Amino acid sequence: MNISIIGTGYVGLVTGALFAEKGHNVLCIENNKKKLEKLQKREVPFYEPGLQELVTKNTQRLKFSEKISEGVKHAQAIFVAVGTPALATGEPDMTYIEHVATEIAHNLKDYRLIIEKSTVPVHTSEKIHAIMKRFSPPDVHFEVASNPEFLREGQALEDAFNPDRIVLGVPSTKAQKILTDVYKDFDAPFIITNVNSAEIIKHAANSFLAMKISYINAVANICELSNANIKEVAEGIGLDKRIGKHFLNAGVGYGGSCFPKDVDAFVNISRDLGYDFKLLEEVQNINRDQKKRLVKKIKKHLWVIKNKVIAIWGLSFKPNTDDMREAPALDIIKELKRSQAKIQIFDPKAIQKAREILELPADESHTAALKETLMEVELYDNQYKATENADCLIILTEWDEFKTLNFEVLKQKMNQHIIIDGRNIYNSQELEKQGFIYESVGR
Ligand code: NAD
Repeated sequence: MNISIIGTGYVGLVTGALFAEKGHNVLCIENNKKKLEKLQKREVPFYEPGLQELVTKNTQRLKFSEKISEGVKHAQAIFVAVGTPALATGEPDMTYIEHVATEIAHNLKDYRLIIEKSTVPVHTSEKIHAIMKRFSPPDVHFEVASNPEFLREGQALEDAFNPDRIVLGVPSTKAQKILTDVYKDFDAPFIITNVNSAEIIKHAANSFLAMKISYINAVANICELSNANIKEVAEGIGLDKRIGKHFLNAGVGYGGSCFPKDVDAFVNISRDLGYDFKLLEEVQNINRDQKKRLVKKIKKHLWVIKNKVIAIWGLSFKPNTDDMREAPALDIIKELKRSQAKIQIFDPKAIQKAREILELPADESHTAALKETLMEVELYDNQYKATENADCLIILTEWDEFKTLNFEVLKQKMNQHIIIDGRNIYNSQELEKQGFIYESVGR
């Protein structure tokens, strides 16, 4: 089949490469010139394991363009995968979706199926439909469907090739036929729903996962107060099949480009619909407090933070990605900067991205806040160099390379031997035996 994808970020590019690998002819549309230049040279503009190889391999069936008009011409199935970031109000910013819908409408000549791949509030398909009706020729038929994406950055290809389920929110049998043809070679359960249900499924799923994280973090805090061990407690509850063992790792809180904004969005959507989703508001509060608790632990051991050297390992919001959108590290850096600490940071993949962001012109407003946070922070390419003269080492991302420690080097480099582990990756007894002051979460 011919397929067009508008927006070539994490979701759009992974989906494009996946469909090309499955034998479809894919045209990806990207309006960021720098990204497009890289993509046309077959360079993936962000780090995602295996994606570069897949994009290189599928040169014939995966093409790139900046023009939505070409995307509309190329295929009957048009996936929209542009960003829906949070506004200051907590609502998702629908500017990019609105722009794409308008642009598609202006270029419509015959039937097209517009498929929401981006995470959008319930009723978005109706809004897209209304705006497209306004700007498209009166006699042209089109429909809007929803096919939410559940991939996880860092293991996006594995998730995209082997999804737990494929959700298709469809307005008609014609739309259903097109989408089931797109996915005909996938071995996964198909959940065929109405469009509103599909839109809700995505927000409900992400909010549930965020709730699980906040729940286990709250239990971890109780463990700290009662001399229990959250790892043992999580195992004890996770083996109950009704609960499940995934997403029960206590830590510094959830982050990333999805959970914080999707929980925010779901709270706002619910309020607009007339329901006060207080449970999710508490999920957000626990997540905010979790980062503050970590900073308190640093203060407890260092007493004075001003002029202390604090080494941080981990800038990305999780391992195997260079994405640092809404990463817990950013809030912790901000807090430590306010206390005038000197920060030295290492991350296996995100340092390069951080440097690129620091070099962007001041008017790139979507990265302005990130840039400000990263200013006056020392960025290191070497894990142990980042601990030079450090009074404390903090672990904020559970990268595999952090999991074994060279104690000799650390002892020699660090000024004080204090480790605060926001991801529970070390054995407390081992670290204490090696002479470190060690605190983690919930044990
Ligand atoms: P992203 O910011 O990485 O990518 C969006 C891309 O769309 C950017 O490259 C941007 O330049 C491009 N774009 C914006 N307007 C455009 C236009 N008019 N024409 C062409 N390109 C345009 O975002 P993402 O992380 O890929 O997320 C996309 C959507 O998918 C969001 O709604 C997100 O919530 C959802 N989602 C993301 C993930 C994830 O892990 N990142 C997982 C599931 C769902």
